[in-house]
Amino acid sequence: MIEIDGSQGEGGGQVLRTALALSMVTGQAVTLTDIRAGRAKPGLMRQHLACVQAATRICSAQTHGAELGSRSLRFEPGAVQPGHYRFDVGSAGSCLLVLQTVLPPLLLAAQPSQLTLSGGTHNPMAPPFHFIERAFVPLLRRMGADVQLTLRRHGFYPAGGGEVEAVIQPATTCLRPLVLEERGDLQEGYAEALCAGIPRGVADRELLMVGEALGWAGERLRTPALRQNEGPGNALMATLQYAQHAEVFTQFGEKRVSSEQVAKRLVNELQRFERSRAAVGEHLADQLAIPLALARGGSYTASEISLHASTNFEVIERFLPVSFELTPLDGATRVSLRQRG
Ligand code: AMP
Repeated sequence: MIEIDGSQGEGGGQVLRTALALSMVTGQAVTLTDIRAGRAKPGLMRQHLACVQAATRICSAQTHGAELGSRSLRFEPGAVQPGHYRFDVGSAGSCLLVLQTVLPPLLLAAQPSQLTLSGGTHNPMAPPFHFIERAFVPLLRRMGADVQLTLRRHGFYPAGGGEVEAVIQPATTCLRPLVLEERGDLQEGYAEALCAGIPRGVADRELLMVGEALGWAGERLRTPALRQNEGPGNALMATLQYAQHAEVFTQFGEKRVSSEQVAKRLVNELQRFERSRAAVGEHLADQLAIPLALARGGSYTASEISLHASTNFEVIERFLPVSFELTPLDGATRVSLRQRG
């Protein structure tokens, strides 16, 4: 039984999701205490419970404490069963975080899986659908696995109602190590304003400001068509496609925050990344940790190592005989995965 203190480091939902994922991968039971102690509303919220329930379904786990508000959980995994599953967060909570929980074991399974996930698809504090599709999944492909994603409906906070389909093709033997230390040449950069059920002028103002700040115009400023009943919601995204990989930055429209402010936040985030010399940004830096650990090798350079990332490294090191080595470089940090023992 591995014991994980949910209050460690960043003290959020990531500790829970990584522990569930690696418990399923390794077959080791886990007890979590002080779940999400670092958050204003600690314990299992609906979206975290949805992750526990999804994990329980795919491996017929025995659980204790899988209830709303629970601050501790015992999870004893059974054998992982690839197949067809439907997981519903039951609120506007991110359904991509449910995918993040069950993906590692399903990437290593003997058969493909097909998941229908419903909930939020573009949420603050979670990987948006387009980030997973454009930035994360292409790197998994280089490691020998594949995930085909389809966005059936957008889901924004607080309305929810989004739906994603994921077809997971596991790696044939095991995942291959990934080395991603250079960003390479920029091939394409564009911004998209997603607007559903809110005035079209919001998208126009956001894109105008992004265009002025970055010198982007025409085809580089896009307003994809969304069904109006998929909202209300507004996400402003910028995608930088490099020779080796892509980065996706996202900011969300909020009440009492002007379109110009949303655009400014996006521009600041993108420019901070561009000023660094790293291959990947803050979010890929924490999300690549599990795939590298499963591959038992690889390295990447990151623009910043957030508390999220360092906490994730620590939790992973509890389950697998690996360690993350951090080397400061000029304008980046190199993260290298070493096998222990
Ligand atoms: P937690 O806050 O512990 O529930 O974890 C949030 C997860 O969402 C982490 O894996 C973050 O990397 C990810 N995340 C948060 N914001 C973004 C974003 N804008 N783009 C991509 N991933 C994100």
